[in-house]
Amino acid sequence: MDFQLSEEHRMVQNMVREFSQKEVIPTIKEWDRKQEMAPNILPRMAELGILGINIPVRYGGQGFDYISLGLVCEELEAADTTLRVVMSVHMGLNSMALLTWGTEEQKQKFLVPQAKGEKYACFGLTEPGAGSDVAGMKGTAKKVADGYVLNGEKMWISLATKAHNALVVMRTDMDAKDPHEGLSAFIVELDSKGVTTGDIHGKMGVRAGSTGWIAMQDVHVPAENLLGEEGEGFKIAMSCLDNGRYTVAAGATGLIRASLEASVKYANERKAFGREIGKFQLVQQKIAYMVQKYEAARLLYLRAGWMKNQGQRNTRETSLSKWYATDASFEAAAEAVQVHGAYGYSDEYDVERYLRNSKGAVIYEGTSEVHQLMQAGYALGYREDGPLRCELPAYDPDFWQN
Ligand SMILES: Cc1cc2nc3c(=O)[nH]c(=O)nc-3n(C[C@H](O)[C@H](O)[C@H](O)COP(=O)(O)OP(=O)(O)OC[C@H]3O[C@@H](n4cnc5c(N)ncnc54)[C@H](O)[C@@H]3O)c2cc1C
Repeated sequence: MDFQLSEEHRMVQNMVREFSQKEVIPTIKEWDRKQEMAPNILPRMAELGILGINIPVRYGGQGFDYISLGLVCEELEAADTTLRVVMSVHMGLNSMALLTWGTEEQKQKFLVPQAKGEKYACFGLTEPGAGSDVAGMKGTAKKVADGYVLNGEKMWISLATKAHNALVVMRTDMDAKDPHEGLSAFIVELDSKGVTTGDIHGKMGVRAGSTGWIAMQDVHVPAENLLGEEGEGFKIAMSCLDNGRYTVAAGATGLIRASLEASVKYANERKAFGREIGKFQLVQQKIAYMVQKYEAARLLYLRAGWMKNQGQRNTRETSLSKWYATDASFEAAAEAVQVHGAYGYSDEYDVERYLRNSKGAVIYEGTSEVHQLMQAGYALGYREDGPLRCELPAYDPDFWQN
């Protein structure tokens, strides 16, 4: 067992930390207030290679491993959740699915420009009437002579109005006995005829990000844009979530760290009853819990990243990591506001943004309740992961870097 980060890991970590500190933190409050994504964020993430960080060089990426992806997400979310959300959808839920399930032609056509950051990608699973209950979705893809015709609406889609490509899951078999079996996954170019997108306004958090909807009306998608086989949509969606949840867990770990650092700084400066508030045991207890949560969340996501590197199935470990880290980041952010007293209740300090941002991650990519059901299911023997036709490839430096 080796707990050391490699030279490459530290390099990636430092590069993203520098970007966040110099280019994100100074202006993030302003964009959060405006409820808009800063226009330079996606191009800069592309320029720095972040949007293709763990994709093999031969597919336009930077050739780093899956642990590097986690470290990138931790650093990004320590600055602002909206940047990590970009990685969750563009990389975890979309590009890594192309790497796992895509044909060579699909990789060349879609993965290469996404990994280079020339195209941005999103993921459409949720519908207005179906979130946790994925198989309850209503959107359809009807087979026609040269492809499929898609009709339906995807809701709460991160980067809906910024992305060029979407991976969407639609119902192809209306009569399937088991509704999970009747779903298929498609790559949809969002400039296709019949696609409209829009932003959702008035969100509690991730205000400097983009969350929206994608409506599809008689959208023709060529047969070669079917990802995997017909009927594999549910399995593909779940394997996407194994990667998306990993990025959310690593990011939430970064948010715990940010809450801890802000609280330590404030506790050392603010005085009450003639001494720094950090000298009071009840404040120390809050700080201690943040340290505990940060260290535990970090170990859980790094283990999941290590398992991905080894090519081991990690649905159970990633779910645990995501559930733990997101609940813990919400609790840490709430305590950070408490440590800041009234100042924590205003946007003069970052901690109120941390609290608003942390709540979203307890809801998306499987609510905490869904993860509790999963963990209980594994423990009780009700749930077991069978082999997939396509598994996320193990990290092989020779393949990735050449
Ligand atoms: C900021 C943000 C970004 C998002 N980005 C994306 C995206 O890019 N792509 C995408 O596809 N989706 C995205 N989503 C949607 C997200 O994945 C869903 O909101 C989530 O899956 C929950 O679904 P729901 O909101 O429909 O809640 P519901 O499924 O309706 O759940 C409502 C409540 O009931 C509980 N519940 C439901 N079923 C059970 C059960 N069986 N047992 C116990 N409790 C249960 C839930 O835990 C929750 O508390 C995003 C959401 C947000 C807030």
